[in-house]
Amino acid sequence: MKNFIPDKAYVDTRALKYDVTQFSINNLKESNVPVEESRKVIINGKNPLENYSKSKKTIYLTVNKQKKLKPCKPSADYQFSLSSSCPGHCEYCYLQTTQGEKPFMKVFVNIDEILDVIKTHIDNNLPNITTFECGSITDPIALEYLTGNLKKCIEFFSKSENGRLRVITKYDNVDSFLNINHNNHTKFRFSINTRYVINNFEHNTASFEERIQASKKIASSNYPIGFIIAPIMIYDNWKDEYKELILKLKEELKDYNSPITFELIQHRFTSTAKELILTRFPKTKLDLNEENRQLKWGPYGKFKYVYPKEKSSELKEYISNLIHSNFENSIIEYFT
Ligand code: SF4
Repeated sequence: MKNFIPDKAYVDTRALKYDVTQFSINNLKESNVPVEESRKVIINGKNPLENYSKSKKTIYLTVNKQKKLKPCKPSADYQFSLSSSCPGHCEYCYLQTTQGEKPFMKVFVNIDEILDVIKTHIDNNLPNITTFECGSITDPIALEYLTGNLKKCIEFFSKSENGRLRVITKYDNVDSFLNINHNNHTKFRFSINTRYVINNFEHNTASFEERIQASKKIASSNYPIGFIIAPIMIYDNWKDEYKELILKLKEELKDYNSPITFELIQHRFTSTAKELILTRFPKTKLDLNEENRQLKWGPYGKFKYVYPKEKSSELKEYISNLIHSNFENSIIEYFT
């Protein structure tokens, strides 16, 4: 897909001394994006909906001064961020409820300092391997063209004996990662779904075809790869469409002989998320009817609505069978 071009960019004055900032500004100016130096981002929509849509077109080049990284169990030991928020408008995204009314995108330019913090965490955990996730509060590929920072991370991890990186994305702009030395220390996971889910709920992200082609490119560069199928939904024709997805992956990845991991997550929502989704996407086709669901206590102290037991067991069994019967080297890490 084409690179995301924001409507407006702000530059934190603290970011001006970093080389990446100038690279980003040049990129933005080439695309005729207005750039303004400022210690804050100004978004004055007339209502929450306008604030949301303006924010999703606004970026802020700034610095990430976090010294102590948060844990990221079960997917990795720690998480770090090269950016926050993203240009996608996924209706069900859990970040909807965590990034406030104005989820503008922060792009962190101080990559060397971020890598120093990562190195400290690796060193403190020697002689063990330490794993890092970089997609917990953003999509790390969507804004990569502005900085080249993820590429620098992959190169850093390739040289690190005890550090490993995990990337997750719904975007397909992967060309800059193909001809670099990754040393198998970075694992790419593509968040993938049926055409119905992508077309109806994952606006402004790469299409079904684009994501699969991106995964094929990354596989051809011999990275370790995996897929997150999430959120898995029940709708008319869901069985045929998930079958289509797995068969398509099988066909496109037939030359990839290393193990492929799958993470399976059924659709869920909280009451807070439902309220926000209905404000931001009043015509949503998401099934948010509590009567079709059962309550499950979540790790973040909130109840969430998941499919009832017999439905979720059917989902798990059907998709797991599809995966195991089509991928000899598959590992299903979890279904939740
Ligand atoms: S691409 Fe990922 S982070 Fe962005 S809105 Fe969609 S689910 Fe959320």
